[in-house]
Amino acid sequence: MADCYALLIADSMMKGIKSMEQSTRAIHMGFPSLDDSHAAAIAMTSAYDFTSAQEASDRFNGVTEGNIYSRFTNPSVEHFERKLTSLENAEAAVAFASGMAAYLALAMTFLKQGDHVVLASGIFGTTTHLFRQYFGQFGITATCVDLDDQHAWQAAMCDRTRMILVESPTNPLLKVADLSWLSGLAKRNHALLVVDNTLLSPVNQRPLNHGADLVLHSTGKFMDGQGRTVGGVIAGRKDVIQPLKNYLRSSGTCMNAFTAWVLSHGLDTLTARMAMHEQNARKVEAWLRQQSCVKQVFSTFSPVHPQAEVIAKQQTGHSPVISFIVEGGQAAAWRCIDALNLVARCTNIGDTKSMVTHPASTTHCRYSQEEKLQYGISDGLVRLCVGLEASQDIIQDLGQALAASQVKHSLREVVSLS
Ligand SMILES: *Cc1c(COP(=O)(O)O)cnc(C)c1O
Repeated sequence: MADCYALLIADSMMKGIKSMEQSTRAIHMGFPSLDDSHAAAIAMTSAYDFTSAQEASDRFNGVTEGNIYSRFTNPSVEHFERKLTSLENAEAAVAFASGMAAYLALAMTFLKQGDHVVLASGIFGTTTHLFRQYFGQFGITATCVDLDDQHAWQAAMCDRTRMILVESPTNPLLKVADLSWLSGLAKRNHALLVVDNTLLSPVNQRPLNHGADLVLHSTGKFMDGQGRTVGGVIAGRKDVIQPLKNYLRSSGTCMNAFTAWVLSHGLDTLTARMAMHEQNARKVEAWLRQQSCVKQVFSTFSPVHPQAEVIAKQQTGHSPVISFIVEGGQAAAWRCIDALNLVARCTNIGDTKSMVTHPASTTHCRYSQEEKLQYGISDGLVRLCVGLEASQDIIQDLGQALAASQVKHSLREVVSLS
């Protein structure tokens, strides 16, 4: 109580007012300044005070920089954007409410009716759906091309192509795009090259260094690192980020201060976490390769990866997202997934906890049967994002689950058959 009173006095003295009614105090009583706080403070405010009408006018008219309203200016969000700008070797960054909100911003800002986009096939299912279904309604066409087929990329480009959009590596099959080659193709066609860097994080790949115009992240994955928030961010040159910021001001699809604060702290440990994720993933992958019921394993650190040269050229580390095909198709893959105790059944990636999904029936369920076949999303495919638990514990859990996957007539199947 005493502390509280001292604060009240200090605050009212600061405002040059000797006494205030309780109702006024309830509104105006300040809180301690956090300027000397060692950890970053969080700016949970919607609006900001201007010292004068002139200052308000100057800020609104862009004469002076400063906060206006948290839909498009917030110190916590800016803190995160500045960190990310630096990590991606960019000039500027802009944060959004989610990864998909970032994709929406890309299209709304840079595309118009009649434009054409080339997407890498096998990218995040919702991204493909957004471009084909929703932007298709507004006369924007999209062609999907296999990441490693350079002839197909050249053939897909036309004079209406404004954007090339890739994930590298892709999820769940870990194919990579040759970013500097694609950047040349984009430049010759006056199209923007956008790279979704979610799977690697800026620790393991900096696409702007390889000629990308924009780099995009779903921030709830490795940047958060503990699966607490949903968000998105785009980084690049100032002249391409500013139009996105203008769009954000009008659309309101902004990141909130709390999420940005979580992410800024998440970035503190990103380098350490990514190294440990990779170390664990390499051990799990080596073990999976030795299992007789595992037909194939996919990872970017596999010595037999067909694009190993491209990977060595542009990645500085690897994603702990790996996939494997279980002998026995979907039934076996599901038995394996259902038998797991430690590894969670969860469609997310980039968490301290290891997680598995069955892509064909979840993340890629909106792909047709032919597309699944074409892109290699087979029925027995299981995607695993290796977390930070002790690798021997992850391996032990996978071991008993794979054994269970090969027991063909489990009690449940016998019951459901009869
Ligand atoms: C999760 C994810 C997205 C979508 O981002 P949200 O934040 O969930 O909207 C896009 N691309 C990739 C590669 C993702 O993993």
